[in-house]
Amino acid sequence: DLQPIRRALISVSDKTGLIDLAQALSARGVEILSTGGSAATIREAGIPVRDVSDVTGFPEMMDGRVKTLHPAVHGGLLALRDNPEHVAAMEQHGIGPIDLLVVNLYPFEETVAKGADYDTCIENIDIGGPAMIRAAAKNHAFVSVVVDVFDYVALLHELDQHEGQTSLAFRKRLAQNAYARTGAYDAAVSTWMADAIGEVNPRRRVFAGQLQQPLRYGENPHQRAAFYIDGSNRPGVATAEQLQGKELSYNNINDTDAAFELVSEFLPSDGPACAIIKHANPCGVARGESILDAYRKAFDCDRTSAFGGIVALNTPLDAETAQAITEIFTEVVIAPGADPAAREIFAAKKNLRLLITPKLADTAEAGLAWKQVSGGLLVQDRDNGRRVQDDLKVVTKKAPTDAQMADLLFAWKVAKHVKSNAIVYARDGATVGIGAGQMSRLDSALIAAKKAERMAEAMGLPEPLTKGCVVASDAFFPFPDGLMEAAAAGASAVIQPGGSMRDDEVIAAADEAGLAMVLTGMRHFRH
Ligand code: 5GP
Repeated sequence: DLQPIRRALISVSDKTGLIDLAQALSARGVEILSTGGSAATIREAGIPVRDVSDVTGFPEMMDGRVKTLHPAVHGGLLALRDNPEHVAAMEQHGIGPIDLLVVNLYPFEETVAKGADYDTCIENIDIGGPAMIRAAAKNHAFVSVVVDVFDYVALLHELDQHEGQTSLAFRKRLAQNAYARTGAYDAAVSTWMADAIGEVNPRRRVFAGQLQQPLRYGENPHQRAAFYIDGSNRPGVATAEQLQGKELSYNNINDTDAAFELVSEFLPSDGPACAIIKHANPCGVARGESILDAYRKAFDCDRTSAFGGIVALNTPLDAETAQAITEIFTEVVIAPGADPAAREIFAAKKNLRLLITPKLADTAEAGLAWKQVSGGLLVQDRDNGRRVQDDLKVVTKKAPTDAQMADLLFAWKVAKHVKSNAIVYARDGATVGIGAGQMSRLDSALIAAKKAERMAEAMGLPEPLTKGCVVASDAFFPFPDGLMEAAAAGASAVIQPGGSMRDDEVIAAADEAGLAMVLTGMRHFRH
């Protein structure tokens, strides 16, 4: 199983740790071949190194597009050392075996992330690197391949354990990781190109990400987890800058994403808005005169659930709002900015995580969403559907007032971000009751009303805030019962997709109860 390392080829874009590695290999008697920039770095450090161009007999050419693409390199990586024909071919063509390949690729993902132009991105697609990595990984029976700087130490440790040799188990692990890297690399290229040319067809996409950070654990402590980014550089939790607080957890990332996507429904030009999330569902969403006002109204929807929640703002965090947020335990705050006074207030709360995004998410943007099922992935367009007033059809005798209409559109936007079955009660630009994730729509309506009652008691209000509210339902009412429950809770106007076999019955019931109802013709299931 053990294979000696006598000759190594090093070709790295990220020169971190390169000199130490070359030094350590050289000290162990390993001959080093290397490409232009890498060779120069090694040579400058006074370590013996041979240029690949010397081995291939060709200069590196075409801006580095062709450096190592040569039989002298690929033969040395691919030859089976125990196959007489392969050995004879090596001898006949003067090809020396390469036992160790150390490559890290042109920084394609980083180049895209920097917002480089098309041609620069194209130039940063590594060709020879992946070709060598795949060759070396295929021949892991004999060859070791290292593609990550943080594997250098493990490699040297392995060599020391086995007197300059590597074990098959070690080489297999390296090979597996090598293919993960080349797979992710090409996926990044394809994903970037899809964005560049506007290809959004779920059937023509590939999924792989770049490891952003290993997480302490997953949804639960017994689950291992990691956070991968897709290289799209979209505003959100993946690209936000964390100014303070503990490391984000798996659930933090999931919930922060939900909070940010939801608050991004509300353009800052239409006024401040705030969303508070727990377990990926909103427990309060509101627009306000100020961001503080929006936060307070969102908080008042369900103060109990907001404890330990994630807060997303659509305008920068100011000092007053920061103060209000710190009055209860909050896990994460994400906002498009935070003024210095606000930062100072948060600084006293060491654990509170503050994330700053350059801008809000574009909720109308096309994109893909996927979800794992056993043995596969479900891929679909991301739900960027939206409805404006002109799209709505009034189906009842009563039409909504202007104020009701504004609340209906607000509640509809929120309902899109609530797990189905979703029922959202709203009044004066704030949610006043949210029923999420129930298997029956009727139960969601009941739960939302119950929570509003509880809040009224806790706040010492004479009646629940749902009195005179509007209600949004993410999918049609299959029967009048859910609608009647909403009416009983105090709803006087309704927004829902329509399209049930019993629409007539539901509309008649709405008329009977004196409700105004509009149909969207669009559903927002979310699971
Ligand atoms: P250096 O800085 O040593 O000049 O270049 C190192 C980089 O070149 C590595 O990222 C490696 O993957 C890449 N590379 C090696 N051979 C080739 C090749 O033949 N074509 C291209 N495009 N890149 C290569």
